[in-house]
Amino acid sequence: MRRRPALGRACAAALIVVALTALAQAVRSSDLTPGHPWPVPTRAGPVIENLRTVAPRVDGPLEVIPAGRATVRVPILEYHYIRVNPDPRDRLGFNLSVTPADFAQQMGWLAADGYHPIDFDDLRGYLLSGGVLPAKPVILTFDDGYRDMFTTALPILHAHGFKAVSYVVSGFLNSPRYLTNEMVLEMEAEGIEIGAHTVSHADLTRISAPNLQHEVFDSKSELEALVGHPVLDFCYPSGKFNDAVVHTIQEAGFQTATTELPGIAHSAGDRFVWTRVRVNGGESLPEFVLNLGQPEPAVVVTPPPAGRGSWPGSSPLPVTFPLRPPSVPVPGPATGGPIP
Ligand SMILES: [Zn+2]
Repeated sequence: MRRRPALGRACAAALIVVALTALAQAVRSSDLTPGHPWPVPTRAGPVIENLRTVAPRVDGPLEVIPAGRATVRVPILEYHYIRVNPDPRDRLGFNLSVTPADFAQQMGWLAADGYHPIDFDDLRGYLLSGGVLPAKPVILTFDDGYRDMFTTALPILHAHGFKAVSYVVSGFLNSPRYLTNEMVLEMEAEGIEIGAHTVSHADLTRISAPNLQHEVFDSKSELEALVGHPVLDFCYPSGKFNDAVVHTIQEAGFQTATTELPGIAHSAGDRFVWTRVRVNGGESLPEFVLNLGQPEPAVVVTPPPAGRGSWPGSSPLPVTFPLRPPSVPVPGPATGGPIP
């Protein structure tokens, strides 16, 4: 990356340099997590090859979360089925199902309000390697690897250019109602990160030590054999974990794990017990919005003039999330604007 002297220019210019330096550093070192006691696998080939890259718009100011914050508010939304629950008497199924119409409305609202779905690579890059994040970051996670993630959620995500994360139960792949190997590969090609969710969705706190090893290590290796690169992010089935479970997922080489504990603020230090925001289905749009909490404060940076700068859009530096200009307030929920 070319680096330009600050030359006493306005604060915004300094912020650009800080952001770009951090972004370059994140790209260079996103597989390095110095000081961690467990082995960190490296991806096959450059890390960026496995991520969708989206060129940012460079014709105006951009909002970013600047590098260096120890804790950031990034709601990690927890979805299961995206479907109309086929059996109204099935209360468990009902509470795991968000209707396609509600899901489309929620994604439309996130897009209109300036949210930027990122994935765990991006959040790890920020917290562990000094990267930057787009304004209003959010992570969309889908547990269990249900087939409607591919048939129903993916087209809606795709329409908005949204990233997401699919937590796959490796032993359920290719069975009825679940994703097939081909669907997993196609989703990954479309920008969906594949995370692990054990081999059989066992309660990890209630199984023997050998079975715990099998559920954690084998889910990782089975998914890695499918996608062809390390799988670094894990999700505890039903959110259940204890010290032995956390130790085992660290030992296996995972770098993060999510729970079902509620919360939106995350740091590197608590990355094996990251909290989430559960979307049960049936909540109103204002309730959905309320559950997102207050966004992490962003700063506005202005790209350098055309032809003079090293802003990512004009350099070979890739970015791994779509950057957009600051959102313009749009009145009224009917058009996707802020909900009071
Ligand atoms: Zn699950």
